[in-house]
Amino acid sequence: MSMQQSMKALIKKQAEPGLWMDEVPVPEVGVNDVLIKIEKTAICGTDVHIYNWDAWSRKTIHTPMIIGHEYVGRVVGFGSNVKHLERDELVSGEGHIVCGHCRNCMAGRRHLCNHTVGVGVHRHGAFAEYLSIPAANVWVCDPKIPTDVIACFDPLGNAVHTALSFDLIGEDVLITGAGPIGCMAAAIARHVGARHIVITDVNHYRLDLATKMGVTRAVDIRSEQLSDVIHDLRMTEGFDVGMEMSGNSDALESMIEHMFHGGKIALLGILGQGSINWDMVVFDGLTLKGIYGRRMFETWYKMAAMLQSGLDISPVITHRFDYTDFKEGFELMRTGNSGKVILNWENV
Ligand code: NAD
Ligand code: ZN
Repeated sequence: MSMQQSMKALIKKQAEPGLWMDEVPVPEVGVNDVLIKIEKTAICGTDVHIYNWDAWSRKTIHTPMIIGHEYVGRVVGFGSNVKHLERDELVSGEGHIVCGHCRNCMAGRRHLCNHTVGVGVHRHGAFAEYLSIPAANVWVCDPKIPTDVIACFDPLGNAVHTALSFDLIGEDVLITGAGPIGCMAAAIARHVGARHIVITDVNHYRLDLATKMGVTRAVDIRSEQLSDVIHDLRMTEGFDVGMEMSGNSDALESMIEHMFHGGKIALLGILGQGSINWDMVVFDGLTLKGIYGRRMFETWYKMAAMLQSGLDISPVITHRFDYTDFKEGFELMRTGNSGKVILNWENV
């Protein structure tokens, strides 16, 4: 089979705001790599940061860079060491490429690798016709799961990793931030048997989305107090488990204030340098756990298994565009009035 030589890709070409569609060479496939023909991609907040060219992306991204790390596609080629995959298999992939030889990697804790390289951040990504990644990063998907949902496995994995960090069965859960990941975490908490799920945000579109995901209460934190919600729900001692998914340190501060003594908090949102009330953490005996990425590959296993057993995150996918209309997708994400936005690459 003669492979095509060049492909369409969405590139951070210049060190300035924007993204550019261009024709570039199809990536090379090393002996341990897999070539994936991309069918659908999803836009992540990280991609919007890169599009905006904010301070983080200015210091992180070396142009030119094909961005994107949320995708579904099919195997179209692989290197000579790859024995377990077949052409045409439906796949997604872990976007963190780990070193394989640091202490954590050697111990099987690859999500804690000290030398993680990000697909679509540090090396060329998935907003293209083809993506080449190590076979060790490929996740073979159940074709019964809709491809729109598989395109969101990366952020769904963040939600799963966070939500399954602590026991939620019969517990009262507070999620701060009803972005796509907060909304997915709410659905997971419901699926695994939490009692009350309270989610906060400052955006009505997203609070409405959270309501569709089955939360007990979607709280606009600008006009409602968490203490009133706790009282209404007759939760006398506060929340058992917290998931910080807003990246806003005020949200974390108020979460800490409303936890049950001995409560547990998983931190996914990128909080920066904000200060918190450590006295409360100490005297209330709170546990705080930082979450980065997904567990390889237990998170992937669990999310597929939960989707196969009734977890439904499809309401979080609110918009779909052809890849040529990527600008519309990014501009929509910038307004905050969306859930996940899918770009379709099937008709390239
Ligand atoms: P998002 O930015 O779309 O959602 C965050 C939500 O928080 C928004 O809806 C926003 O309106 C809301 N918010 C802002 N201030 C708030 C406040 N004071 N109280 C409550 N809500 C508030 O982000 P997302 O894609 O859903 O991701 C969630 C967070 O997780 C982001 O901070 C993101 O950067 C982070 N993230 C971390 C990892 C990781 O590996 N640690 C991976 C992916 C995303
Ligand atoms: Zn490592």
